[in-house]
Amino acid sequence: GTNPPATGTLTPMMAQYHGLKAEAPDCLLFYRMGDFFELFFEDAKIAAACLDIALTARGDGAPMCGVPIHAADAYLARLIRAGHRVAVAEQVETPAQAKERGGYKALVARKIIRLVTAGTLTEETLLDSRSANWLVAIAEQGPRIGLAAADISTGRFELASVPVAALDAELARLGPSEVVIAEGATGPEDAVIAPRSTFASGEGERLLKSRFGVATLDGFGSFDKAALAAAGGLLAYLDRTAQGGTTFLQPPTPRTAEDHMAIDAATRESLELTRTQSGERKGSLLDAVDRTVTGAGARLLAADLSAPLNDAVTIEARLNLVGRFAEDGTCRDRLRTALRALPDVGRALGRLVAGRGSPRDLGQLRDGLAGARDLHELLDGLEGPPALLLQLLPQLRGHGALVDRLSRALVATPPIDASDGGFIAEGYDAALDELRGLAGDGRRAIAALEARFREQTGIAGLKIRHNGVLGYHIEVGAKFADPLMRPESGFTHRQTLAGVVRFNAPELHELALKVSQAGAHALAAEQAHLEDLIDTALGSRDPIATTADALARLDVAGSHAARAIEGGWCRPDIMPHACFEVEGGRHPVVEAAVAATGERFVANDCRLSEDSRLWLVTGPNMGGKSTFLRQNALIAVLAQAGSFVPATSAALGLVDRLFSRVGASDNLARGRSTFMVEMIETAAILAQATDRSFVILDEVGRGTSTYDGLAIAWAVLEGIHETNRCRCLFATHYHELTRLAEKLDALSLHHVRAKEWKGELVLLHELATGAADKSYGLAVARLAGLPKPVLARAKDVLTRLEKGRDKTGGIAAGLDDLPLFAAATERDAEPADALREALAAVDTDALSPREALELVYRLKSLT
Ligand code: ADP
Repeated sequence: GTNPPATGTLTPMMAQYHGLKAEAPDCLLFYRMGDFFELFFEDAKIAAACLDIALTARGDGAPMCGVPIHAADAYLARLIRAGHRVAVAEQVETPAQAKERGGYKALVARKIIRLVTAGTLTEETLLDSRSANWLVAIAEQGPRIGLAAADISTGRFELASVPVAALDAELARLGPSEVVIAEGATGPEDAVIAPRSTFASGEGERLLKSRFGVATLDGFGSFDKAALAAAGGLLAYLDRTAQGGTTFLQPPTPRTAEDHMAIDAATRESLELTRTQSGERKGSLLDAVDRTVTGAGARLLAADLSAPLNDAVTIEARLNLVGRFAEDGTCRDRLRTALRALPDVGRALGRLVAGRGSPRDLGQLRDGLAGARDLHELLDGLEGPPALLLQLLPQLRGHGALVDRLSRALVATPPIDASDGGFIAEGYDAALDELRGLAGDGRRAIAALEARFREQTGIAGLKIRHNGVLGYHIEVGAKFADPLMRPESGFTHRQTLAGVVRFNAPELHELALKVSQAGAHALAAEQAHLEDLIDTALGSRDPIATTADALARLDVAGSHAARAIEGGWCRPDIMPHACFEVEGGRHPVVEAAVAATGERFVANDCRLSEDSRLWLVTGPNMGGKSTFLRQNALIAVLAQAGSFVPATSAALGLVDRLFSRVGASDNLARGRSTFMVEMIETAAILAQATDRSFVILDEVGRGTSTYDGLAIAWAVLEGIHETNRCRCLFATHYHELTRLAEKLDALSLHHVRAKEWKGELVLLHELATGAADKSYGLAVARLAGLPKPVLARAKDVLTRLEKGRDKTGGIAAGLDDLPLFAAATERDAEPADALREALAAVDTDALSPREALELVYRLKSLT
């Protein structure tokens, strides 16, 4: 434990340390000492283990470790990634100031200047340029949950209010880096706990108004109490982490669940929209689609795919823009070439607002905004511009004066570190140029002095050098030093090292003073210009952010167009009714994987309409059922996100909610009570799916015994058909379910084709109508390399089982007598089924001619 000694025995430094630590007890404390950040006690143990650096002990035995200032960012990044939060305590005065203030023994004052947490980063080195970095605050207000989400690296700020049940879906959509909740509230396990009093709607409203300088929030949209309470919690937390500094927030955009296709957490995970189930970007839909050329474009694309739209007008607008770039290859290439060269304007702005901006960030604004203006030129002349382009074009310009000023003020590639100066261009400020001239003259005079000293002393190896400790000095080899040691030589001894001796001389001293004074004044002038330029830039931060957003939107449209051309994708038609007609549909991720092995992906059609809503897909394992189901769900996501889709044609009615569930045994690795999870998730579908929803169910019911599983699958299918009436693809290996086709009029049977060829199973991955005629389980087992004796034995067992079923009616016997779920129909399917059963019991090859004739008579009697 930390257990500091009683206060009385503490050194002043330790007293200061513990005081700071008490201000941020939930953080590791980085305590600045000279060129290091030091950590003590428990913090030191945690950091040393996490960073793999040496744990040492202070004189009094307290554990400590340290990281050098110049490498602090890299160490911070590792601590943050490992889930820690760090409070940075800086020295806020120089040792000289401390002495002046408190006398000889005074301790340098230190202050926590910032809390570094996963959700409040702005540094380029700590962030992934292609992902947003969300901080989310959650507030509970009765039946509503307020969510405030901010990405302060770009200023994006959303306020939402959703029903309690939708919280998980929202969190899954955002994938926050950090979540803040009130004391005692429920939330994710690793959430940060903040004082309950900050999560108050009145306080939230007040903070929002004062931050954005408005008398009413109406101009931004309408926000309920839950959303305002969340905003309160978020803003208070941001203030705490910034410790009085500023953070970048654009005005809040209201978000309601109805604006977007609802996709719950389980569906998101199962469809691997932005991440695979193992958490990687590679292998996700996003990765297969992403052809963006800027970080901001990649971030926007991820946001689009995470929240497909629900409004045909906006979707069409996006599709029109994609279509325009898809048709016009020259324009597309020029757009993408131009965008590729642009810096990340949004993130540069975020750093500047946070007070961590550098000359290089200003340079990025200059280049990015100038690039936007050039892009405007490029796109302005396009014939028949789509509406969205007309809306974006004006947002690309309007920064002429700022770009101009920055171009004049800054050198071509300004440095990240401002402390050495050298970023203000020549000709921008005459006074600065003069100071630089003086310093330059001085440096030239010093070079001349070196030559003169060499001549004067006869020491050819004499050099004038500069370092941080001595400043300018004269250096000679040790064996030449003696003559210069004499007082009459005019040199004064400064330092003797192993091989060299260092001196000063009055003339050098004088010149050096001139150089350093001019240099210091020049540096001060540059710093003043920097502040001035940053202030000017920040004066138009909202329009700059708008320009950055417009660039990202263009990048996304260009990316979709490029992807469509590359893969032969088509523009989806958005239809007013609940249809789903895809011709030649493909799965973008599986297609790429299949292509990588040299195989060809087989495209398949899907035709759902109001009177044919439900497809039951059977066929052998590995036959392509899951792939078919998922590709159609992904096509819905892509279309509503405003992308072309991997198909030859697609006509879809908007999907309000998308559900994807996979039978439990696929998820065994997750180690939960998987069948329970499967049932909970299935229950959610039955409760929530509407007649505008789209549902894919893959082997639901598999997680339990055959009888239970079949019964559940049966009932779920009936429920979806009769009550939810949504569009649905249902894959199953329960052959018995195909009997439902006779009772459910909007359900049709389909199977993935396979054939046996020379005793081998060939999976065709091709969808056909009707039920699969065989299950091919044994053939798949052979394909998988099950040993021959085991296969032979399995065949034996199967034959016996089938004989037994023929005698008793099989495991599905009696199912036909079941009254139909909920709304039983009057239709009597009995005679047809009796016929079918009788036929199924016939062993054709074993019939004698006489038995065959008798059979015909018997069948006739059944009709
Ligand atoms: P199932 O759900 O029927 O067990 P999957 O959909 O998981 O089968 O597909 C199994 C494998 O078959 C995939 O990993 C892929 O390699 C291949 N596959 C699936 N669909 C296709 C297709 N349409 N064209 C080519 N290969 C496919």
